[in-house]
Amino acid sequence: MTSASLQASRGTRDIWGSEILLWQFLEQQARDILGRANYQEIRTPIFEATELFSRGIGEGTDIVNKEMYTFTDRGDRSLTLRPEGTAGVVRSLIEHKRLNQGVQRCWYQGAMFRYERPQAGRQRQFHQLGVEVFGSADPRADVEVMALAWEFLQALSLPGLTLELNSVGDPEDRQRYQAALVEYLTPYAQALDPDSQVRLTKNPLRIWDSKSPATQDILTAAPRLPAYLGSAAQAHFEQVQAGLTALGLTYTLNPRLVRGLDYYTRTAFEITTTDLGAQAAVGGGGRYDGLVQALGGTPTPAVGWAMGLERLVVLLQKQGETPAPRLDFYIVAQGEGTGILSLQISQMLRRQGFRVEIDLSNSALGKQLKRADKLGSHACVILGENEVQSQQIPVKWLATGVQEWVDFPAGFADDERWRQKFAAIPRPKGP
Ligand code: ATP
Ligand code: MG
Repeated sequence: MTSASLQASRGTRDIWGSEILLWQFLEQQARDILGRANYQEIRTPIFEATELFSRGIGEGTDIVNKEMYTFTDRGDRSLTLRPEGTAGVVRSLIEHKRLNQGVQRCWYQGAMFRYERPQAGRQRQFHQLGVEVFGSADPRADVEVMALAWEFLQALSLPGLTLELNSVGDPEDRQRYQAALVEYLTPYAQALDPDSQVRLTKNPLRIWDSKSPATQDILTAAPRLPAYLGSAAQAHFEQVQAGLTALGLTYTLNPRLVRGLDYYTRTAFEITTTDLGAQAAVGGGGRYDGLVQALGGTPTPAVGWAMGLERLVVLLQKQGETPAPRLDFYIVAQGEGTGILSLQISQMLRRQGFRVEIDLSNSALGKQLKRADKLGSHACVILGENEVQSQQIPVKWLATGVQEWVDFPAGFADDERWRQKFAAIPRPKGP
């Protein structure tokens, strides 16, 4: 293989440069907002036993059927790169017996893997942020997680988002509904897209997820799930809506929003945008009161969501949110003894919380100063042989061109002095 052929694998990409600042901004907002709601971060392994996902996501789903990165390791175990976060979190809570310790709230963030056709906002390695609440069937838990999703998106100032809401009822409700749906669709079976034809016998509710216009047309007059809710699920649904309204969250009821698997119960929601073309969903979630039991734990109600971070980054970029780099001091140095001095000054300033870079090029001072300008540093510390002798160091403020002399080391160690200098400088806000 020649080195020219080395590139990131299809459906994966490097995140760097100004884009990484958007990721850090996003992650910081998530940490702050979820931290204030006392959610605990959890980091589960990137790969797990394949069985966890086939049981936890469900045979018959696109993820398990077509999208998993599954391999056998050298010990002959079947392992899978996680395609989503919930199954691993549930496995962890069961394993560490955390589900009989009252309500557990957690969040996670990290890379997920699905073998899909890559396109804008759809990759093979992508990142999700997710939250889960275990141990509460209270509609307030549903409201809490949706409100947190909303707070997070508000913090990013993303316009054009809609919260779509539905209830998929309890398993008994869905069984009655499924029978009605199959009865309605059977006469149209030949006109459905091929995937939906298979689903008609295997997992009829998932036909609602079909992206085929012909299928969606047929569904227009189909019976709708909300009409089949039992009284308990209906009451829960109403309380969820009342909670959202009380918090000022606007939502749109979408009776087409369904989940195909038995462990999904009651609340289902999705957050969509009009700005991402075909990849309209930035996140989704709902209640899955049956999942813990399906994975071998004691029955535990649960509710949560997951969001695709790539899609949020694309939305941030569309807004022209390009964060300005912020360097406080650039240290240029030329001549005997300046190398050590540059190290010492950078250490002193960094310990005071400033962002400091040393020029390592050993090129002519003029060239180094140009670099300070290019980086947009606030100030430039200029070290030459004379300065090593005099211990009087010129510091140039690049916005004004004003130069002052600071004595080393005392002047550089004087936090108060620098803080006053920087108080007058408008620092770029935001990411
Ligand atoms: P879609 O219908 O777009 O395939 P999904 O139903 O498979 O989405 P979920 O499993 O609910 O998606 O994942 C939650 C979120 O994760 C999605 O709303 C989306 O923002 C993001 N996501 C899912 N798959 C990908 C992917 N391959 N690349 C980037 N983001 C993704
Ligand atoms: Mg998908």
